[in-house]
Amino acid sequence: MTRILIVGGGIGGLSAALALRQVGFAPEVFEQAPELLEVGAAIAVWPNALRILQRLGVADQVLTRAGVIEQVRWLNWDGRLIKHVRFPSTGAPAVALHRADLQRALLHALPASSIHLGRVCESYQQIGDEIHARFADGATVTCDLLFGADGLHSRLRAQILADGPPRHRGYTVWRGVTDCAPQALPSNTALELYGRGQRFGIGPVGLGRTGWWATANERADAAEIPSERQRKLLTLFAGWCEPVRALIAATPAETILHTAALDRPPSKQWGAGRMTLLGDAIHPTTPNLGQGGCMAIEDAVVLARCLLKYGVATQTLRTYERHRHARTTLITNYSRYYGRIGQWQTASSTRLRGLLLSLLPKALLQHVLHLIFDYDAYAVDI
Ligand SMILES: Cc1cc2nc3c(=O)[nH]c(=O)nc-3n(C[C@H](O)[C@H](O)[C@H](O)COP(=O)(O)OP(=O)(O)OC[C@H]3O[C@@H](n4cnc5c(N)ncnc54)[C@H](O)[C@@H]3O)c2cc1C
Repeated sequence: MTRILIVGGGIGGLSAALALRQVGFAPEVFEQAPELLEVGAAIAVWPNALRILQRLGVADQVLTRAGVIEQVRWLNWDGRLIKHVRFPSTGAPAVALHRADLQRALLHALPASSIHLGRVCESYQQIGDEIHARFADGATVTCDLLFGADGLHSRLRAQILADGPPRHRGYTVWRGVTDCAPQALPSNTALELYGRGQRFGIGPVGLGRTGWWATANERADAAEIPSERQRKLLTLFAGWCEPVRALIAATPAETILHTAALDRPPSKQWGAGRMTLLGDAIHPTTPNLGQGGCMAIEDAVVLARCLLKYGVATQTLRTYERHRHARTTLITNYSRYYGRIGQWQTASSTRLRGLLLSLLPKALLQHVLHLIFDYDAYAVDI
């Protein structure tokens, strides 16, 4: 039996473990956290990823805890509608749920014995056709293939690419989930409100909960005091239409998350020898399209399909990388531009943005949504 070691038990690592099991492998997942905690905020799972979860057998569990999103509305900070578009029908819904619910659904579909918690992978070395992964506890685990799903600050990436930290894109993102579901919100709808150098997003996350996210232009070294987050956001969004401040106020302050908007320029190299990367480890993206986790899920399936089709060989990993490069580059770049425009700050640029968005043909928006949602990781030619 091929020994496959996956470093990282996040969305990408667990999806890869499931997809690999589906094609007959028995991978082992090594995760640094001592337990997979109930952390995170809302996460959108778009049709391109939900279709995969259906095939992986975890969609039912996800859907029972998720809110369905059928359309998106863009508004001004004062509530004036700029544009709205209904999502095209693509055979699977777009949903959002608490990240912990998604993580739990993936985790419970795997044998507990294949998940090793509290194991920090520090480095690896390939000797012949074997890989020796070294762990912080002094242990070395030998395998035939090593997959780095170790996220944004991937050590495995650093070992092969040594390309420094991710790039800061000039703004901060805060997120929260609250049990409050304001009556005034249209059902099954995601809202994105634009201000000057600030945005606020709202959407249903199932079980009567509402998820929100907020952005503001900030430098990478802006002061960040967790106990002040809620107060800071209430000040930043003073004067915005409701339920913006109501949602911030209704969220338990200690659960509000703070993240810098980061990504990396696309890399041509994704792996070396019998090691490859997936998810944020190789193509972290700004969160504007909510596709980072979805792309990690896509990676998982394409990697598994390549191994099934081409067998356990170095070249198979390079084939997987080639097949994922264009898609992940497109979405990462598109997300960065979307965020850049969304964070425009001057009066003239924000007026221009409103005008452009209001004039944008719905057919063009639908075309872009199709491009993102229609990707079928089980059907793409490999
Ligand atoms: C504000 C924000 C909003 C987002 N919204 C969405 C959304 O709506 N939809 C969406 O699809 N995506 C979204 N994303 C992106 C999504 O969170 C990531 O793309 C996704 O989590 C990537 O999954 P991953 O498995 O590659 O990495 P992660 O989920 O980060 O998992 C990496 C795992 O590796 C472990 N690890 C790290 N180093 C080691 C080590 N040395 N040894 C062992 N284990 C290690 C970590 O503990 C972690 O569990 C959002 C991101 C942000 C910041």
